Amino acid sequence: MACKKDHSRIQTIMAILPIDQGGKGRHKCAACAYELGFEAGSQLKEKIDLEQVLNSLEESQAKEQRHKSPHASYAQGYIDGVNYFYSKQ
Ligand SMILES: [Zn+2]
Repeated sequence: MACKKDHSRIQTIMAILPIDQGGKGRHKCAACAYELGFEAGSQLKEKIDLEQVLNSLEESQAKEQRHKSPHASYAQGYIDGVNYFYSKQ
Protein backbone atom coordinates (compact mmCIF):
# COMPACT_ATOMS: atom_id res chain seq x y z
CA MET A 1 0.00 0.00 0.00
CA ALA A 2 1.24 3.45 -0.86
CA CYS A 3 0.75 6.37 1.50
CA LYS A 4 -1.94 8.78 0.32
CA LYS A 5 -1.83 11.18 3.26
CA ASP A 6 -1.32 14.90 2.74
CA HIS A 7 2.18 15.68 3.99
CA SER A 8 2.39 19.14 2.41
CA ARG A 9 2.77 20.83 5.84
CA ILE A 10 6.13 19.15 6.53
CA GLN A 11 7.80 19.24 3.11
CA THR A 12 10.50 21.68 4.26
CA ILE A 13 11.43 19.26 7.06
CA MET A 14 11.49 16.29 4.69
CA ALA A 15 13.83 18.18 2.37
CA ILE A 16 16.66 18.31 4.93
CA LEU A 17 16.60 14.66 6.03
CA PRO A 18 19.32 12.23 4.95
CA ILE A 19 18.78 9.90 2.02
CA ASP A 20 18.20 6.20 2.70
CA GLN A 21 17.92 3.93 -0.28
CA GLY A 22 19.05 0.56 0.94
CA GLY A 23 18.48 0.47 4.66
CA LYS A 24 15.79 -1.11 6.78
CA GLY A 25 13.37 1.69 6.10
CA ARG A 26 13.65 1.41 2.34
CA HIS A 27 10.67 2.96 0.57
CA LYS A 28 8.75 3.49 3.81
CA CYS A 29 6.96 6.81 4.09
CA ALA A 30 9.35 9.06 6.00
CA ALA A 31 6.66 11.71 6.38
CA CYS A 32 4.42 9.27 8.24
CA ALA A 33 7.44 8.34 10.39
CA TYR A 34 7.81 12.05 11.26
CA GLU A 35 4.13 12.37 12.20
CA LEU A 36 4.33 9.31 14.47
CA GLY A 37 7.54 10.60 16.03
CA PHE A 38 5.98 13.99 16.65
CA GLU A 39 2.95 12.39 18.30
CA ALA A 40 5.19 10.26 20.56
CA GLY A 41 7.43 13.23 21.42
CA SER A 42 4.55 15.57 22.21
CA GLN A 43 3.34 12.97 24.74
CA LEU A 44 6.89 12.40 26.08
CA LYS A 45 6.33 8.75 25.27
CA GLU A 46 9.17 6.66 26.69
CA LYS A 47 8.51 3.17 25.40
CA ILE A 48 9.25 3.23 21.71
CA ASP A 49 9.57 0.20 19.47
CA LEU A 50 11.05 1.69 16.34
CA GLU A 51 11.09 -1.63 14.52
CA GLN A 52 7.34 -1.93 15.02
CA VAL A 53 6.87 1.69 13.94
CA LEU A 54 8.83 1.13 10.73
CA ASN A 55 6.97 -2.09 9.98
CA SER A 56 3.65 -0.27 10.37
CA LEU A 57 4.50 2.38 7.76
CA GLU A 58 3.11 2.39 4.28
CA GLU A 59 5.40 2.88 1.34
CA SER A 60 5.95 6.17 -0.41
CA GLN A 61 7.89 7.35 -3.43
CA ALA A 62 6.36 10.78 -3.35
CA LYS A 63 7.61 14.35 -2.95
CA GLU A 64 10.37 15.27 -0.49
CA GLN A 65 9.90 12.15 1.64
CA ARG A 66 11.03 10.02 -1.30
CA HIS A 67 14.02 7.89 -0.28
CA LYS A 68 14.45 9.75 3.00
CA SER A 69 15.53 7.96 6.17
CA PRO A 70 12.49 7.04 8.27
CA HIS A 71 14.84 6.63 11.26
CA ALA A 72 16.02 10.24 10.97
CA SER A 73 12.50 11.35 10.22
CA TYR A 74 11.03 9.67 13.30
CA ALA A 75 13.80 11.11 15.48
CA GLN A 76 13.30 14.61 14.04
CA GLY A 77 9.56 14.29 14.65
CA TYR A 78 10.19 13.13 18.21
CA ILE A 79 12.39 16.10 19.12
CA ASP A 80 10.01 18.51 17.42
CA GLY A 81 7.17 16.93 19.42
CA VAL A 82 9.12 17.24 22.68
CA ASN A 83 9.84 20.90 21.93
CA TYR A 84 6.15 21.41 21.14
CA PHE A 85 5.27 19.87 24.52
CA TYR A 86 7.52 22.33 26.37
CA SER A 87 6.40 25.28 24.27
CA LYS A 88 2.93 24.80 25.74
CA GLN A 89 4.15 24.95 29.38
ZN1 LIG B 1 2.91 9.10 4.59
